[in-house]
Amino acid sequence: MFRLSCEAKQYAWGKVGQASIVAKFSGGSIREEPFAELWMGTHPSGPSEVVVRSNEKVKLPEFLRAHPDFQASSPELPFLFKVLSIGMALSIQSHPDLTRARALHSTDPKHYPDPNHKPELCCALSELECLCGLRSVAEVATFVAQVDELRDVLLAGGMPRPDIDALREGGDPMLVVRAIEATLRCRPATIKDALERLMAPARLAALAAREPSMDAALRLAGRLQGQFPFDCGVLVGAFLLRYHRLAPGEALFLGPNVPHAYLAGDCVEIMATSDNVVRAGLTPKFKDVAVLCEMLAEHVAASPVDPAARSFHCDPSCPAPHLSVYAPPVPEFQLVRLRVPADCPQGGVSWCGHPTSAAIAIATQPCWVSLGRPLPPAFERIERENNAAGCDLLQLGAGSVVLLPANRAIWVDGPNGDLWIGTAAAAPALAHK
Ligand SMILES: [Zn+2]
Repeated sequence: MFRLSCEAKQYAWGKVGQASIVAKFSGGSIREEPFAELWMGTHPSGPSEVVVRSNEKVKLPEFLRAHPDFQASSPELPFLFKVLSIGMALSIQSHPDLTRARALHSTDPKHYPDPNHKPELCCALSELECLCGLRSVAEVATFVAQVDELRDVLLAGGMPRPDIDALREGGDPMLVVRAIEATLRCRPATIKDALERLMAPARLAALAAREPSMDAALRLAGRLQGQFPFDCGVLVGAFLLRYHRLAPGEALFLGPNVPHAYLAGDCVEIMATSDNVVRAGLTPKFKDVAVLCEMLAEHVAASPVDPAARSFHCDPSCPAPHLSVYAPPVPEFQLVRLRVPADCPQGGVSWCGHPTSAAIAIATQPCWVSLGRPLPPAFERIERENNAAGCDLLQLGAGSVVLLPANRAIWVDGPNGDLWIGTAAAAPALAHK
């Protein structure tokens, strides 16, 4: 196995300086600047580097090409693995499925730079706030009835009055999609006027007093307005999308067409290698409203249950007490968490590597890792640890990242040791005869 040197992306939404685990994990001196994402993988926009000797690094795709024993199938990993440290909201977005991604890429390669889909899984490392999926028709009806400013925007954006009235009768979740579409199509000046009226402190206080169930949504609107003043996403995010708060270890799977936005917190994230994002607000970037609304309609149509009742949680399976496996229904990736128990056996606890895919592991708490055999007794380790080519014993600090070859087991120990592993999905089980 080899240590990896990984790139930290300094997007403006990242947590700043010491508050950012990405800054801490990326090593080096921590400046008072935002550190948003740590990228672990072969993605051309930020490939990791393999530390082959103490002062020699090789780009990961190049390394995999030269070492087919790590991953025979391809020098590109099918997944991109990240750590995110989120200080303010990211754009509201959805990702296309494979069929739509291919079509978008062929007609608009500038905005859709590759033909791949981009399913994602996020798992909270600290409390994680995000928006994901649609609010129920009943909730939206309450907001529209109470918040005249929202109703004005829907009308101005072209939502027919009978559709707005129909929200009150409940039922068709397509009405929520139409409300999102109207908000996105509304002229910026009308949005600005509506938010100026709504954000007046006296107005907010009066609304919260009249309808206490709206308190959280109004506070979220205030927060988003502070981050993206007068953006249409303030209204979409606060009143039309569902709010989630995840505890550490809880995960969401974001499949095709699911609208989402991360708001605050820290997480690991793993996704198919793609840059195809269809944005809907909380961003100065390109918004493809027509495509986004088609995708939202598909999201609603695809759900056998009310989309507002749909769960996006991805609960892990636990093949052993120290292992949690998050395996959403996609071939590109799975996420494995290995936690060293207090009564760790001698030699450590183990994980059996993927048969054909390399894996990338990041320690969020310090631990020892041994490749191919159980760990030696503690007093032998420091002497035997090696950091050069092909090492089989390493001490990892919090934030250390390593590349693991396919089809080899690892053993891990260390008080509170916590290792997150990204790899390809498990091969489908063989059918019984
Ligand atoms: Zn996304």
